[in-house]
Formats: sequence, C-alpha cells, structure tokens
Amino acid sequence: MVEPEDDGTGTAGAASLVLVLVGLGPRGAGLLERLVSNAAVLDRGPVEVHLVDPFPPGPGRVWRDDQSELLRLNTTAEDLTAFVDASVTMDGPVTSGPTLFAWCRSEGAELPDAALVAEAAALGPLDFPSRRLASAYLAAAFDRAVARAPAGMTITSHAQRAVDVVRSDAGGRDRVVLDDGATLLADAVVLLTSHVDVAPAPPYAALAAFADDHGLTYLPPAYGGDLDLGPVGAGEDVLVRGFGLGFVDLMILLTEGRGGKFLTDPTDDDGARLRYEPSGAEPRLLVGSRRGVPYHAKPMYRLQAPRPAATTFCTPGAVTALLEQGRPITFLRDLWPLVGREVTWAYYLELAQGHPGRVRVPWPQFAATFADLEWGSAGYAQWIATVVPDPADRLDLAALDRPLRDRQVADRAELARLVRSYVRADLARRQDVAFSADLGAFHALLAVLPVLGPALASPQMDPRSLVQEFLGWFMGFFSFYASGPPPDRLEQLLALEEAGVVAFLGGGLEISTDPDRGAFVARSTTVPGEVRARTLVDATLPAFDLGRTEDPLLAALAARGEAVGQVLTAADGERLETGQLAVDPAHRLRRADGSSASRRFALGMHTTVKSAAFARPASNGPVHRHNDQVARTLLALAPLPDPPPIDDPTAAPGGPGGQ
Ligand SMILES: Cc1cc2nc3c(=O)[nH]c(=O)nc-3n(C[C@H](O)[C@H](O)[C@H](O)COP(=O)(O)OP(=O)(O)OC[C@H]3O[C@@H](n4cnc5c(N)ncnc54)[C@H](O)[C@@H]3O)c2cc1C
Repeated sequence: MVEPEDDGTGTAGAASLVLVLVGLGPRGAGLLERLVSNAAVLDRGPVEVHLVDPFPPGPGRVWRDDQSELLRLNTTAEDLTAFVDASVTMDGPVTSGPTLFAWCRSEGAELPDAALVAEAAALGPLDFPSRRLASAYLAAAFDRAVARAPAGMTITSHAQRAVDVVRSDAGGRDRVVLDDGATLLADAVVLLTSHVDVAPAPPYAALAAFADDHGLTYLPPAYGGDLDLGPVGAGEDVLVRGFGLGFVDLMILLTEGRGGKFLTDPTDDDGARLRYEPSGAEPRLLVGSRRGVPYHAKPMYRLQAPRPAATTFCTPGAVTALLEQGRPITFLRDLWPLVGREVTWAYYLELAQGHPGRVRVPWPQFAATFADLEWGSAGYAQWIATVVPDPADRLDLAALDRPLRDRQVADRAELARLVRSYVRADLARRQDVAFSADLGAFHALLAVLPVLGPALASPQMDPRSLVQEFLGWFMGFFSFYASGPPPDRLEQLLALEEAGVVAFLGGGLEISTDPDRGAFVARSTTVPGEVRARTLVDATLPAFDLGRTEDPLLAALAARGEAVGQVLTAADGERLETGQLAVDPAHRLRRADGSSASRRFALGMHTTVKSAAFARPASNGPVHRHNDQVARTLLALAPLPDPPPIDDPTAAPGGPGGQ
C-alpha cells in the first residue's frame, strides 16, 4: 500500500522542492545526474538538492581516493562508465559522457597527482584501472553533473553522516538529522547507502569470540579498502576462506603492499614468467574455498562475431509466459533451463560465427538443430559431440561449476600441481582469442539477469528456491564465471605460490576451532589431513542485513518499523529472512506494517530491487532506468509545509511511519 500522494495543498512558504540524497557513491551520483538532466527539461519550480555523505561525493566510500594504489577494478577501462547512453529505455533525456578510458585520453594529463597522470597515459581500453583512478573519474563525473544543474536547482553537499530521519505527528517535511546535530528539512529522502557496515553474522561472531578467548587473530568479512592488516604478522600461517575478489585484495595488500616485488626476467628459460621477490614481511597465505580455485580470470579479448542484440531463449516473453501459467516458480526447474540454454546458445554462436572451422555445420543448421533439441538432454549431448569435435570447445556448465571435478588427491604437493595447472589453463584460455566463445557466454550471463527480474520479484517465485537456488547457488556461479580478477592477478597468484607465500587448501573447505590447542583448523574434501593456524581471514565482502546494520540511520528506521528487512514465507510456512532492505517496485521504503512510505526511497545493492551501480556502455543498464524513473518521480512531488518547530510540544518526532 502506498500512501496517497500529497495533493500539493498547504505549501505556502515552501516554494522549493527539497530533496535529500543520503549516500553519494556511484549510485547517488547517478541519481543526481538524472535529477539534473530531467530538471533541465521538465517545467517545474525551484529544487534544492542536499547531498549527505561523510566521504567525497561521486566516489563515496568504496571508491574514495584515500586507499592503496595497489587496489584495482575488476572492470576494464572501456567498460566502466558513469553515464547513460542512447541504449537506455527511459523517459528522461540522454546526456552521455565518456567511459573511464575515453576520459583518461581527454582529461588524464590534467590530473593533480603524478601517479594518476602516468597511469592514465599508459592505460589501454582493456586494462583494469586502479580504484584511485576510478575515484578521480567518478569525482569528475559528479562535478560535471553539478555544473550542469539548471537555473532554479541548487545542490549543497554536507560531509556528514545522516543518523536519523524523523517526522512530526503534525505532518509536513521530514527532518534528516546529521552527525553534528544539524537537521535538513526534506520533501523526500533517498537512501543510496549500499555498502554499510554490518555486525558479523553469528558464525563469524563466534569465530571472533573464539579468537578473543584464545589470543588468536580473526578478520571477518570486510571491504578491501578498509582492511586493517596490522595484526597479521610476518611469516605466520594465515588460513584464508574465500578465493574471490576479497582474496585478491588481501593477497596484494599482504605481499606487494608489504614491500615484495613482482619481477619478470625475459632471459629466463620460462620466457617472461612472473616471479615474486619477498620482502620478508609477508605472512604465508593458505587459501581455500568451496570450489578450491580462484574465480575465472576476466576474458582479455573482444567478440569475433557481432554481439546478439537481444536474448533468444531467456526472453521477456518467455518469462511472461512462465508467469502466466500461474503456478509457483522455482529457479532450477523453471528459470535455469532458460538461462543455461541462452548462455550455451551465445557461446556456440560466437564459436560458430567467430571461429567457423571449429563447428562442423554452418551456423543456420546448427541454430535450427539447437532450437529443436532439449538443452541438456542426452540427445543434445550426443549431437554436440558430433558437431563440435574438440572437447575443449564444448560448453559444460555443470563441469565449470565443479572445477576440481570432486577430485581427491593424495597429498598437498599433488593438490598444488592440480590447482596450478587449473589456473594456468584458465589464464591461457582467457587470454587467447581462439576461446572468445567464453566471452559470448559471459555476455549472455550478464544479459539474462535483468530478464529474470520480473520472475524473481513475482509472488509466484518460491522463496526457498529464490534464497537457496538463485541467490545461494546461481549468483555464486555467476561471480565465479563472470566477475573474476584481471588475468595478471592470477599470474601473481602463481608467482606467490611458487615463492612459498601462498599455498592451496583445496575445495569443500571447512573451518573449525580447536579449543584445546587454541587454533583454527582447516579441512578440505580434496586432500586428506588438516591445517592449523592462529590467524583466520574470511576474505569475502560483508553481506548486508538490516538486522545487523551498524549504520545509525538504517538502524533507527528499522527500530521504529519505518524500514524492514525482506521476509519471505515458504509454501510450508517457514519464514525466510533475507535481511535485504524491503522496497516496493517504485523503490519506496516498506514499513513493518506492509505499507510504503510515499516520500522515502532507497536504491542500491542493499535493497530488494537490485541493480549493479555500474552498467556497461550500450547495455540499457537497469541502474540507469531505475535512476531515471526515481528522479522523475521525485521531481513530480509537490513541496510540503515545514513541520512545527522541534520545541513545539505538539511536534514530537517519530510518529508511526515516515511520509
Ligand atoms: C571493495 C569493492 C570493490 C568493488 N569493485 C567493483 C569493480 O571493480 N567493478 C564494479 O563494477 N563493481 C565493483 N564493486 C561493486 C559496488 O557495488 C559498486 O562499485 C558501487 O560502489 C556501489 O555503489 P553505491 O553507490 O550503490 O554504494 P556505495 O559505493 O557503497 O556508496 C554508498 C555511500 O553511502 C554512504 N553512506 C552510507 N551510510 C550513510 C549515512 N548514514 N549517511 C550518509 N552517507 C552514508 C557511504 O559513505 C558511501 O559513500 C565493488 C564493491 C566493493 C565493496
């Protein structure tokens, strides 16, 4: 239920529409850009925009300049853009701008920092920039939006944390309370606060308590730029759980960040193989995970055939048809066949059209048979084996998901050989354009996510399947296949392993505690035995959970029932709490009573209507569509009257729900 919109009466003395954006990372800056661009073409009265973030607006906390220059993006310079383009289906105007790569070409020489000037000058379109360079780009994109504000729009930044949003029982504007006690009156408030601090979930809290009790070191999930690695001593063994991007940040901060050097010696027998020269200040990282191998390196080539303009099997029409059947939907039974078929189709399309000699039949014939056969059936597998002769050219998603093939090896030396050869094979494949079919699959994985949106958000979606099959399994597989590190990070991993600074623990990793010997213990299903250490790092990003948030604003709203975490009820009545900030389809905050606050919005990765903060150029990214939709909703609001002054006894803040 949405409260009736204000009808615009009673606005005497409140000529300006006052909007408060809380959180000015990439998402907040993207919304600001849409506000500026839409206000320039919509005929509306004066607008005051207040921006609240303790970190610099544009980059925000994750992309702040003040972080190690060693930390990098896992997005290429040509793929990162802060701007909308003509591909975006939206009502607002297109005001395009440069990708990070194009911006470095045009503005890089003007950067105030010599290291960034040098990086920008050397940057290629397929390079992975430092987060500091991205910070400068995002700050410039923000400045550009502010500079384009039309007459009648004022934009004011407050380098403060918002700690509460309160309303008066007498109605009128909300009061946004800042860290320093100041308040901002607001006709509407938007929370754009994706990556806030959360208290460790119970299993992590238990490990932290164990570490405290036994004088051990435990680092729970954290953001790479915020890691305090001081307690991790030189030479000590460190168990690391997680082999994704969190591990890559940790690995580089504890090695190159401690004075070690990566060197190539072209006179080596091995050619230009990377070697690591330790500084002596590194710990020894013993890393494992569920799969036991790092995420796939990002592909370093472009498609050889034209990229499909739209999906073929996992289409909006197919999802609508599924919904129209009116029955419960589960991910693995109903959606995965669409996704798997689409990804496989895109893979073979690139293989057949980009590398025609590798498929025995012409593409039209391949396409017709593929469409006729049931994807994944025995008949399909037999046919693929005949028309794609080289097994290395066949896409097997199930095998990709189990990279060590459930192998059990005799000892750690064999495990090291196994993981090394896996990583080398991945590196070779992701850097050789002969395997550009992998990029076809990669693009299809990105393309299906927005298509699935209506099914995932539908009441027909089985809650347990959503949590376990989609969020639990599929998104993990997605990250593993499509959101891995730059290839040179895996070269560095191999060099560190060779230097004895990194060792592998295997797959099926289980961490336990040994109170008698005061140690953390790691066991893996890949190799017999166990490894003990006095330090454990959970190298993953903290998962947002409203119930555990340490953000004062979200905590205050949740405590009063003015914000709620998503709760799904399974068919058998079991309640599944995802912890995600519940918003309605218009991005309005849901309250504990099930209603929506008409003038409080939330956008970001912590909400139930997710869209990644960055979209690739020319991809009609959901983030831009959502930002445009919310910007236009905000600009259509009528100003409210000011609430009574706070010392007015009839104006007690904190009524039953926000506007
Ligand atoms: C370490 C890390 C690396 C990443 N690397 C990549 C990458 O290479 N490529 C990629 O595409 N994506 C990457 N991502 C994904 C990431 O989600 C986005 O890049 C992006 O940062 C999300 O933007 P956002 O604005 O939604 O949230 P955030 O970047 O989290 O910004 C939220 C802002 O809200 C502010 N805030 C929070 N609470 C309050 C409050 N109470 N009052 C005022 N302000 C508040 C914070 O200070 C922050 O500046 C990465 C994420 C992380 C955490």
